[in-house]
Amino acid sequence: MQREGISSYAARNGLELVDIVEFHESAKDSEHRTQFHALLGRASAEQLDVVVWMWDRATRNLTDQERIEKLVMAGLFNLHVASEQRVLSKDSADSDWMVADFNAVSSKQYLRVLTTRVNDAMGAKAAGGWFPAKPPLGYINQKEIGPNGQPKDRGGTIALTDWGRRLIGRMGELRLQNFSLKEVGACLLSERLVPDIHTTKFRGPRSGAALIDAILKNPFYMGRFCWQGVWYDGKHEPVFTQQQWDSIQQVGKRTTYRSHKREGLFSGPGMRLTCAKCGCVVTYAPKYKGDREYRFYHCANGKGAHDVQVNVKEEAILEALGESVLESVYVPPERADELCRSLNQAHYVAQALKDQEAARCRSQLADLDVKGDRLCDHLTAGVLDVETFRRQQSRLGDERRDLFDRLQVAQRQIDGAYLVTAQRVLELAKNVRNQWETLSCEQKRDLLAELLENPQLDGTTVRYDLKKPFLVLSEMRESEEWRAREDSNFWPLDS
Ligand SMILES: [Zn+2]
Repeated sequence: MQREGISSYAARNGLELVDIVEFHESAKDSEHRTQFHALLGRASAEQLDVVVWMWDRATRNLTDQERIEKLVMAGLFNLHVASEQRVLSKDSADSDWMVADFNAVSSKQYLRVLTTRVNDAMGAKAAGGWFPAKPPLGYINQKEIGPNGQPKDRGGTIALTDWGRRLIGRMGELRLQNFSLKEVGACLLSERLVPDIHTTKFRGPRSGAALIDAILKNPFYMGRFCWQGVWYDGKHEPVFTQQQWDSIQQVGKRTTYRSHKREGLFSGPGMRLTCAKCGCVVTYAPKYKGDREYRFYHCANGKGAHDVQVNVKEEAILEALGESVLESVYVPPERADELCRSLNQAHYVAQALKDQEAARCRSQLADLDVKGDRLCDHLTAGVLDVETFRRQQSRLGDERRDLFDRLQVAQRQIDGAYLVTAQRVLELAKNVRNQWETLSCEQKRDLLAELLENPQLDGTTVRYDLKKPFLVLSEMRESEEWRAREDSNFWPLDS
């Protein structure tokens, strides 16, 4: 429509159409409009008139508005607004420029209101328990039905489809039976649980393993979701209960090797102990009395450091490690949630630093604009010849591009992955006590392996180091002041 409007406007007004330049960049911020500025540069250099269809195509921000006015007033080009049959040239009346200014202001405000409304509406929806965006596989956005039986325009909820309930439910079921992700995918396809439009996702050599993994780790399927860094209890129908979901999370972590009869909990690759006194490996040395097996460990004593062999029972080691680690890692739910909030805060502080860099870039870009404007003034005043003007303008263009690149980097959102990791750590810390009793010995050992490193046997007692995230957590927990200094308790961003 714009193309046609511009062409016919040009024909009607006896303008020779040199080129139609189509671009799709937002007119909201001046610094994002590289193509637009390139176009203005070309028009100035080649003395071409610029035709836009509507005002808001030319500018929705006041920075560009003023720049265009300067360029036009300098006689570099004329600006036509085709839909309004309006031409702005260096001879235009002041009132024409004022109308142009008002147009820019009103476009800008329209955009501002729209943005705020959309954000508010989505936030309110999330707080009300409804995920405000496109839901994950298996769910659909459902329009609410009004009293007259017609679907309403606004609002709407998220519904679990029948096929979604079967597909995802079966996915979890198979996974809990220790099927590999690939096997689960193949199973689902062969059981014809995948709707035709989604089958390609489960085909291929990996049978959609990555997708299945992502689905089974997504808390949305047990009724929770995260919106703009905050977790909400969703009102949508979950596929899994919290308990089922927790068990599914444990599946991948279970070590795949089957512990041999002759292998102890602490002698396999899952976790090995060393002797605190001499540094030798601690060996598993079961003793048998009739049918009974006694699972003992002792230092290999490779350096002959011990005169007497001390034997320690496996249950004793497991129990001692468990008790001590749970004690230092456990975080009461309310504190865990508080920590979670302050982590989010830290995230936004880091974001703010990036914003500052972005602001610096913007202000330097603004300086460039001033220089550009001065160039125009000099050209109009006859201080500069056209050749020099073009040269200088192209140099400014290069600088502008460099700054723009820097700005893009600064504007990129900080990677939120560490936040997710931290949230997982906190979830684990919160639930570790309730989970512990329900676990088998192997699972307990595996859980310990996730929480601690460098386990050592010192005579009959055990020592260990907490892994870094849990160490930080336990230190934060022990510090009496951390509540008071919430603002300064940052999760180390590099870990
Ligand atoms: Zn030793």
